[in-house]
Amino acid sequence: MSLRFQAIHNLSKDAGQDISDMPTKITAIFGENVFILKTARKFLSEEAYKSLSASIKEAKKIDRSIASQVASGIRSWAESKGVTHFTHWFQPLTGTTAEKHDSFFTLKSDGSPLEEFDGAALIQQEPDASSFPSGGLRATFEARGYTAWDPSSPPFIMETGDGRTLCIPTIFVSYTGESLDYKAPLLKALEALNKSAVDVCNYFDRNVTRVTPTLGWEQEYFVIDEGLANARPDIVLTGRTVYGAAPAKGQQLEDHYFGSIPERVYAFMRDFETESYKLGIPLRTRHNEVAPSQYECAPIFEDVNIAVDHNTLLMDVMDRVARRHNLRVLLHEKPFAGINGNGKHNNWSMATDTGVNLLAPGKTPKTNLMFLTFFVNTIKAVHDYSDVLRAAIASAGNDHRLGANEAPPAIISVFIGEYLNNVLNDIETRVGDKFDEQDEAILKLDLHRSIPELLLDNTDRNRTSPFAFTGNKFEFRAVGSTANCANAMIALNTIMAETLKQFKKDVDALIEKGEKKEIAIMHTIQKYIVESKKVLFEGDGYSEEWHHEAERRGLPNVRTTPLALDAMISDKAKHLFENNKVYTHSELEARHEIELEKYIKKVQIEARVMGDLAINHIIPSAIEYQNLLLQNIRGLKEAGLPESSYAGQIAIINKISKHLQQVYTKVNELVEHRKIANNIEDTRTKAITYCSDVKEKFFDEIRYHADKLETLVNDNNWTLPKYRELLFLR
Ligand code: ADP
Ligand code: MG
Repeated sequence: MSLRFQAIHNLSKDAGQDISDMPTKITAIFGENVFILKTARKFLSEEAYKSLSASIKEAKKIDRSIASQVASGIRSWAESKGVTHFTHWFQPLTGTTAEKHDSFFTLKSDGSPLEEFDGAALIQQEPDASSFPSGGLRATFEARGYTAWDPSSPPFIMETGDGRTLCIPTIFVSYTGESLDYKAPLLKALEALNKSAVDVCNYFDRNVTRVTPTLGWEQEYFVIDEGLANARPDIVLTGRTVYGAAPAKGQQLEDHYFGSIPERVYAFMRDFETESYKLGIPLRTRHNEVAPSQYECAPIFEDVNIAVDHNTLLMDVMDRVARRHNLRVLLHEKPFAGINGNGKHNNWSMATDTGVNLLAPGKTPKTNLMFLTFFVNTIKAVHDYSDVLRAAIASAGNDHRLGANEAPPAIISVFIGEYLNNVLNDIETRVGDKFDEQDEAILKLDLHRSIPELLLDNTDRNRTSPFAFTGNKFEFRAVGSTANCANAMIALNTIMAETLKQFKKDVDALIEKGEKKEIAIMHTIQKYIVESKKVLFEGDGYSEEWHHEAERRGLPNVRTTPLALDAMISDKAKHLFENNKVYTHSELEARHEIELEKYIKKVQIEARVMGDLAINHIIPSAIEYQNLLLQNIRGLKEAGLPESSYAGQIAIINKISKHLQQVYTKVNELVEHRKIANNIEDTRTKAITYCSDVKEKFFDEIRYHADKLETLVNDNNWTLPKYRELLFLR
């Protein structure tokens, strides 16, 4: 029996995991595996506690003189929870997380055993970094890497089976100081934003001393049966199906969206939510998505740095817990053709240390002007640097999603809703007019009275926009579901930092010319609206007309990753990231190289899997069925029946032959083109060639014929689980 039928047979046995002992009160377990400040107070001396909380507040490295005290406090806490090992946990550019476990256990010089975790082990380590991508940085600088604790992320305990490991969230940098991970540049981008945003806030409120960007991500994913997934080598190796005919029922009924969550999936959700709560991940919503077997979860928003940690942790936890339930989580951007893909919406805003959300319309004319300032600066930032944002979300997986029917296009535009559009139009049409102090209408923008209207306007009409204002935050919806949100957040916060810096210069210049502050701000806002309004779009982002319209407006529409990545290393990008101390030139070049290599590898693996499945599964299945038909025809002939009695069989044999030959020929051509691409030296050219001459030239075509075969061949002979089984059996 093929794996496919075994898996179908085993389905009922796998179902149902007992979750009756799962705690019901979230507050009882929330954060129990995190060394939060409340815990720190219990395990640290007064001096160590003060030093640690100051480091956290000011986002500073921990004081070396106090590190050993902090380390021993953390060890006592961890040991009280059964931990034996610790690891520096970091986010390398491969996209997942990395750990290297060391035990507390060590030997003294006289050979006697000792449990130890000193300050040095807490704040710095040298993982063997040679196997992590460095885009030539290490080669160029002969630099080794080290990890260093980022105290703004608290240590936590990861439970795997019976094992418990203390994880210290760290940055990963080379000895010459180049970032080798996502966290180091993210912290720099957040700091850049803080500086620029505080300066601008001070026009309105002198008390603001810190601005912290906030992030609330929404994670979409599919859940399928593990046995069925294991019978699909493409899912095992690439996380998506490279073949599969559309099922009779897809997502057209949208009945999954409104349906209840199946019991087996519900048990899995409860389980991974419990794990997440222990880790302090404040998950709040769970629901079905539009596609069958697709779901979404979202937490309460947090500081960007913590939210990014929590999202990467969550992806690990989901994957691990799913296996306990004999399920598989598919985080890929497009696991199934013809059905919605997975996104990871990044809801983003900025909060002041005075408790103001800078993207929420205020209650007074003055705070409204502050809102308007940050709102318009965001639009301007996206307008000026849409290519940088596009590059930050580019990946082989996201290419399948962006621009497809069921996702936002590769064109970056901003949705703000009718109400705010009118406000901006009002301000804009005064170009040439002088604002003056009597200009009540403008300074008293009555936004706060219109908040209900505004929310109504912005909640549900933005489904097709890649970047939408949703009442009190922007939602960056084009981020890929497997992505580390850090990449998008580094770009977004840096372009915002740069734009705000420029805004301050522009306003100050007008003030110097003698304009009153509020008037200078109004004039600058007006200028920015004029300069960036072409990025605003309220219509259907999926539509053909928008593609034409966007082209007319001169908005970039880069459909593929290798080309989208060019914007990472343009002079504009280099200036942007260097000016804000986020990336140096060589770091950008290195990252660009790494992204291209990731792309090449992904397409390479998919191409191989397509070839293997064609030769080892699809063609043999087709031949087997053909032989069955031939045997049947021979029998009918022997029985003396006329040709008309097996005309249908002949027709099927013919059709199968036609598609089979196509699959075979195209797979061979694909292999040839892969070889040519592999011999290309220059990484960018190689990536572009992989995209055009391997992926675009062959993937869809081979798939077309293979999927035709699936619909022709006897179900019994087909070895790969079909879409209807992957999507509807549970
Ligand atoms: P919905 O979009 O389902 O109506 P919400 O608007 O409340 O729900 O929030 C969607 C996501 O946006 C959640 O993850 C939430 O935490 C996040 N979010 C809400 N406010 C902010 C904010 N000020 N900054 C960042 N994220 C936010
Ligand atoms: Mg949303």
